[in-house]
Amino acid sequence: MYIASVILDIPTQALDTPYSYAVPDDMAAEVGCAVLVTLGGRKAVGYIVDMEEATPSPDEGTDLWGNPLTAAELRQVEAVLSASFFDEEGAACAQYIADRYVAPLASCVRLFTPPGAVPRVVRGRDGRWRLEEPKIGQVDDRWVTRGPAFDAFVPRKNAVKQQQVLEAVAVGDVRVAELAAEFGAVGGTLKALAAKDAVVVERRRRLRGMGGPLPASPAPEGAGSASVVATAPAPRLTAGQEAALAAIEAARAAACGRVVLVDGVTGSGKTEVYLQAIARTLAEGRNAVVLVPEISLTPQTVARFRGRFGDAVAVMHSRMSAGERYDQWDFIGSGAARVVVGARSALFTPLANVGLIVIDEEHEGSYKQDSAPRYQARDVARWMMERTGGAVVLGSATPSIEALYAAAKDPLWTQVALPERANGRPRPPVEVVNMAAEFASGARSMFSGKLTRALAAELSAGHKAVLLLNQRGFAKFLLCRDCGFVPECPHCATSLTYHEQGAKLVCHHCGHTVPAPPTCPECGSPYLKKFGAGTQRVEADLRALMNTMPGVGSRVPIIRMDADTTKAKGAHQALLEQFGAADAAVLLGTQMIAKGLDFDDVTLVGVINADTQLHLPDYRAGERTFQLIEQVAGRAGRASLPGRVMVQTYEADSPAIRAAASYDRAAFLRTELPKRQMLGFPPYVRMANVLVWGSDEHEVATEAELLHAQLTELVRNEVGDARWTVLPAVPCVLGKLRNTYRYHIVVKAPADADISAPLTRLFRARKANGRVSAAVDVDPMDL
Ligand code: ADP
Ligand code: ZN
Ligand code: ZN
Repeated sequence: MYIASVILDIPTQALDTPYSYAVPDDMAAEVGCAVLVTLGGRKAVGYIVDMEEATPSPDEGTDLWGNPLTAAELRQVEAVLSASFFDEEGAACAQYIADRYVAPLASCVRLFTPPGAVPRVVRGRDGRWRLEEPKIGQVDDRWVTRGPAFDAFVPRKNAVKQQQVLEAVAVGDVRVAELAAEFGAVGGTLKALAAKDAVVVERRRRLRGMGGPLPASPAPEGAGSASVVATAPAPRLTAGQEAALAAIEAARAAACGRVVLVDGVTGSGKTEVYLQAIARTLAEGRNAVVLVPEISLTPQTVARFRGRFGDAVAVMHSRMSAGERYDQWDFIGSGAARVVVGARSALFTPLANVGLIVIDEEHEGSYKQDSAPRYQARDVARWMMERTGGAVVLGSATPSIEALYAAAKDPLWTQVALPERANGRPRPPVEVVNMAAEFASGARSMFSGKLTRALAAELSAGHKAVLLLNQRGFAKFLLCRDCGFVPECPHCATSLTYHEQGAKLVCHHCGHTVPAPPTCPECGSPYLKKFGAGTQRVEADLRALMNTMPGVGSRVPIIRMDADTTKAKGAHQALLEQFGAADAAVLLGTQMIAKGLDFDDVTLVGVINADTQLHLPDYRAGERTFQLIEQVAGRAGRASLPGRVMVQTYEADSPAIRAAASYDRAAFLRTELPKRQMLGFPPYVRMANVLVWGSDEHEVATEAELLHAQLTELVRNEVGDARWTVLPAVPCVLGKLRNTYRYHIVVKAPADADISAPLTRLFRARKANGRVSAAVDVDPMDL
């Protein structure tokens, strides 16, 4: 007899553990199966995360109260509800994520299961538990194909529909639905043709998720052919690309989870390097995963991988429907897929024998999940490749400081540079426009004279412009329009956030609070501006401005791209297409326009307000500003037309902006790294952010205080390392969001410390509080 460890699939805030259940001898249960079990009188669905042969010792497991149970006393698994979604390695990975990110194990196991594919247990009106069949399942299409008598069959002259159907089938297999759409009802016709063996009508499983936003590709019949059919030839690599490929090959040969950081400007040929590294991985019989930021997961991106690896490419991301994910999951599980391209969730598909994980744009914040489990895909990928003897490739034009730091220090990392664009085009010059000086000379518009003149010139010449309105969250900060001064926390060197209520300035790291000054403390100017303008306002101003430009006027469209205009599925892509198809046009948008934008005729890129990013209450503000400017600059002058970039700022002397304007990363790091070391931020320390939220502010604050006391005690007594610090409980930057009050507590530990284990112990012991929730964000991206 076997004993199964089952993690219950019920939503939970608390840290959970598996329960033991006996598996009846005649039951085909294995690790990764969904099963039906009973717990404390209720029925629940769970997943088997471990199976062990029962031995007659008394400590087989424990009941709900911690009392040991023998195998005979254990409750039994009642039913197996699915085939296995993950193996022992998947279960180990889920446990790793739960431990490292202090997350409920159930939430980690769920990463490995396609949503909606497992029955749910529901309690009926009569109080009985029953299983509700999954909403998601496979969908079959009816197809018409040639029958044995196809060639010999001659329809009667007046049998028009028969002729039409036969002509369609002569071209190729066709879906009944398509025939019906074209010729009307075809049921009788097909029946007649099938009776004469002229055609055969058969059911075939539809493979959803490769259509949709992706180019349609034929369903793999009887999936199982793992052949890779290239349709696009690979170009000869440049010397730089050869070196990058060689580094990846060395890392793969080492087979121990080594990391290669490909540090290459946009257009330098990184993707081509990935493609060739993947081809070699596949040639050795191993498979590959490619992660790209969700926003870059466009049909063009997928087409590029399909072009090289044909139908062996599967796609997985969270915007896909549950049905699409279900089918892709099966497609991958069948062994027919060799390459999975997707967002961070693509790490958890049933792709076997992965030997290479590529993470493009590794600096992107979207590789960190912002709900439980709050994992960082980069780090999980690393763990996976260490376990299976593969390699990780990180690519970016603007690598994260963590990656640059690791590449410099860690012997298991290699960094390779691709400093030139593959087409040899130089990067566009970046001009910093000092908005404080503009203001001093009497200008009041958010568009400087320089940017206005450049816009007028490029648009009237029929070129395109991209304008970035930097906007993140709703954090507001004060900025002096005369001297550019922004109030900062004396302890944390991050900007203070302006709170309308009580006109206060608050530090969201340490809680330092001061009244908002009426005049600039630096120069005495009364022009202290609260920053945080919306895209709609800017669009209206821009429209008015463009209408006055000779040769531009109202005929040049403004395409606005922000959270509002991109809500609908496919809207992002549609806006980009609209911009691409226009003659002269302006693309005005938030951060999201910095990515995946590749148009030949963009000659001007303007950053309207570089300061917004710079003064986020976040220690990464400088890094993000630097990255953003480098990213948008990469969008100008990609083809034969030269490009230029203008960055408007009230803080023209900021090291991040100056360094970005001269493409000088070394200079940026020279100022940024010592600052982080001195103030105690990553990569010199590790952080965990303890989040507390609920609908009653007082209760949330009280719970946060309690947790703060417990954390302080934990660090003092259990950890006993004076280098650990627990900062006070303070409201989050977005202190109130959708009627939820949010507080947080930052915990800092030495860079090599296991910050998760003590927090896990605390959170396991923590009494659930039904009205206030708490969770831990380890290695947070945002505070
Ligand atoms: P990145 O991923 O760094 O932005 P890509 O791999 O997309 O760069 O390359 C940019 C462009 O240069 C693409 O059109 C690509 O096809 C082309 N390219 C890349 N490598 C080569 C090469 N070795 N020879 C010719 N063209 C190349
Ligand atoms: Zn001032
Ligand atoms: Zn502070």
